[in-house]
Amino acid sequence: MSITKTRIGFTMHPLWLTGTSLKEFLAPLQDAGLTAMEFLLDAHQREWDQFKPLMTACADMGLYLSFHFPYSQPYSLDGFNEKKQVPSIGELTALLSLAQEYCVSADTIPVIVVHGAKSKTSSRARLYADTLAFMRWALDKFPQLLFAMENLGPAAAGEIKIADTRQEVLALTQDLADPRVGICWDLGHDALHHRSDLPSSQWLAKVFHVHIHDINPTGLDHFPLVYDQVPYKAWLPYIQSSHIPGSVCLEIKGNQLRGWKIDRINRSLIESIHWIKELLDE
Ligand SMILES: [Zn+2]
Repeated sequence: MSITKTRIGFTMHPLWLTGTSLKEFLAPLQDAGLTAMEFLLDAHQREWDQFKPLMTACADMGLYLSFHFPYSQPYSLDGFNEKKQVPSIGELTALLSLAQEYCVSADTIPVIVVHGAKSKTSSRARLYADTLAFMRWALDKFPQLLFAMENLGPAAAGEIKIADTRQEVLALTQDLADPRVGICWDLGHDALHHRSDLPSSQWLAKVFHVHIHDINPTGLDHFPLVYDQVPYKAWLPYIQSSHIPGSVCLEIKGNQLRGWKIDRINRSLIESIHWIKELLDE
């Protein structure tokens, strides 16, 4: 068995700490192979005031931090190219400034996962330009951070979503042509699109970060790996050979697991991390 350098994390949420301390919660996960953590930078989510102290506490415990740029309302890149986007530049700057605080060494530079612009009223060409404009602004404003364009799940009826095809994700990284821009390969989203083939070697070479999550029997994604609906076994071994600056992150959502008992959350997280580590080490 080879020792992999690929970091393994999951999406942190204050909800996971119900009735326990961070240290107690993390101990069995670190034993299972946890070395990273991802935080959603959405100042409008519940419990947001608890996020910053948690980020610092996780970094202090030696975990690598990555961040997910917000994608739910009121955050939208729609109109960014014409400076008509809804969140103010000041608000977007404040969010990315939080991530920048964790650039403490060359080895800890956070990867920021970004969704392309989406809209029910704008054209694909305009949304593509909005996405490029946002990325150019972010790259210029935050010269230390790394960014990863994510392949997105299927668009809702009547909606256009930039980067919902592999080709468009690659085209964005090629148009931006910046070594600080790569791809966040979301395995769950590929499965939602019923893609079973591997991305091209050109595409895989740009992967900075990975999202992995399962799909429940009703077709809802972002669950721990308990349903076996995504071909992780076929895809994850392709991660280990290339060094990625981010992590393989089990992307779960606080709100979706609100109905789960804390024991079930703990168990499914430990088992998922353990399984990812085994697959990467194979
Ligand atoms: Zn994702």
